[in-house]
Amino acid sequence: MNILLLGAGGFIGVNLTERLLKDGGHQLTAVDISEDKLEHLLDAPGLNYAHLDISTDEAKIEELVKVADVVVDLVAFANPALYVEDPVGVYDLNFTQNLKVVDQCRKHDKRLVQFSTCEVYGLTAAKAFGLDSKENPCPFNEDETPLIMGPIKNHRWIYACAKQLLERVLHAYRHRDGFRYSIIRPFNFVGPRIDYLPSEAGGGNPRVFSHFMDSLLYGTKPMQLVDGGEVFRAYTYIDDAVDCIVRVIENKKGNCDGEIFNVGQPENELTIAELAERMRDVFDKHFRQEGDPPRPEIVSISSEEFYGAGYEDCDRRIADVTKAKTLLDWKPQYDIDQVIFKTMEYFVDEHRKKQANGTVASAVAAV
Ligand code: UDP
Repeated sequence: MNILLLGAGGFIGVNLTERLLKDGGHQLTAVDISEDKLEHLLDAPGLNYAHLDISTDEAKIEELVKVADVVVDLVAFANPALYVEDPVGVYDLNFTQNLKVVDQCRKHDKRLVQFSTCEVYGLTAAKAFGLDSKENPCPFNEDETPLIMGPIKNHRWIYACAKQLLERVLHAYRHRDGFRYSIIRPFNFVGPRIDYLPSEAGGGNPRVFSHFMDSLLYGTKPMQLVDGGEVFRAYTYIDDAVDCIVRVIENKKGNCDGEIFNVGQPENELTIAELAERMRDVFDKHFRQEGDPPRPEIVSISSEEFYGAGYEDCDRRIADVTKAKTLLDWKPQYDIDQVIFKTMEYFVDEHRKKQANGTVASAVAAV
């Protein structure tokens, strides 16, 4: 199959590219505006890489769409801090620019695998109706659960809303014209290459695992729990996620068209406060070395202080993965201990390499 991967240079994209190259048997074209995470794959046989931007290189992208068998669109801003900082940019890329890819696929009759987000579900019904979401676990089902967003003034929801609208447009084109698409809704994937560490990047606001790793490896700040870290997340190891995604892309049984797939590990649920405790313990038990900063404190911080105005959190996200299990014979393998251990191992290995070649000191000095 000739697979066009748009946004191949991001966390999911690079792990997916690695897996598809390892499996072999496909012709891959990877597109991104950054090669940083893909560098180790650029010379791999079977991979054609193009540095292109879906926002500005439409003609070149269209040439690639024309010759593809399937287009996989991973291009997105997918970091909560950005939804608060730059809601217009988030809307523009996640809806307007992605819609151009949809239009090109329609024009050339190409199947599209569109990445969306578990955030389209928004708040749980329990939360929206003032109930305790801890006592009312309501797994999110792709084809039944209503999508509940917070008020407009909490502009965090622009991301969820843009993705939701894109999903609705895909559905509408299928309804009218039989457009062939599948949608993936990722539930908190973590693993190698997820995010940068703020102490190495000179600041920034990545997702929570990287913040906590930063505290463990650099000790420049405590582990901060936004509003006490009481919300739940269920973390999915990237290899499990990629295994499911490959099945959707290959569509071997021909049963993925017009389907939305939750991709997640519902059994890996914990609160963010529990995640902080566990990460601190796993680090001490398996990775701590002489010279590492002392065990960081865990403190609470208000969401306003951490993100600025306009943030509202998702209280709980449990994926109902019945559809992926039934249609794709997929089952996630990694439990939460393995997810934390393996992701931490990646960060620690990278850090130790930097320590060995002397680049850590300068990274710390630059903070
Ligand atoms: N969070 C936190 N401390 C941090 C970073 C994030 O407590 O240093 C919280 C954030 O408010 C949210 C959860 O951790 O409740 C997960 O946030 P993340 O940015 O990883 O992405 P999300 O799962 O919300 O998409």
